[in-house]
Amino acid sequence: VLSQVVTAMNASYDRQFHLQLSGQPLIVETDVQQLKQLLYILLDNARKYSEDRIDLEAGTDGAVYIKIRDYGVGIPKDALPHVFERFYRVDKARSRETGGFGLGLSLARELADSLRLRLEIDSIERLGTTVTIVFSGDFNVGELQSGQEG
Ligand code: ATP
Repeated sequence: VLSQVVTAMNASYDRQFHLQLSGQPLIVETDVQQLKQLLYILLDNARKYSEDRIDLEAGTDGAVYIKIRDYGVGIPKDALPHVFERFYRVDKARSRETGGFGLGLSLARELADSLRLRLEIDSIERLGTTVTIVFSGDFNVGELQSGQEG
């Protein structure tokens, strides 16, 4: 799924998303449509709020995770607790150029709740943002067999 989304995003934008998978490819039982939608929102934000490369990393560290790291404008510390709120946008001036209604992340949170995932966001202003999707619930996780989609 991750590589499908990355391929689609690389094709629709003139920006490169770098996908790095660490360790053994994993398969997680989840709703693929909703997971894709969640990834699109997070990747689109990374693209909107940064100009450099965007790194994706998937692996397992107790729980399976997917990290999306950008090296863009970042989010001020005091704004960080609010970014998942509906219609919340950091700094109207900078956001105006990128459009948007401040709905992306609130939808991302709803998708994460529905998928029983945890979303973590870390950000340093002017350095960039990392969003981590953690499969912390009770998921069926296994190793990817050849012929299966990851
Ligand atoms: P849209 O409704 O089109 O998604 P949006 O991007 O403004 O609009 P959200 O996705 O909810 O809305 O994001 C809320 C705010 O969080 C954004 O306005 C932006 O300021 C900040 N933000 C989100 N992702 C990032 C990121 N990767 N880097 C920096 N700021 C971000």
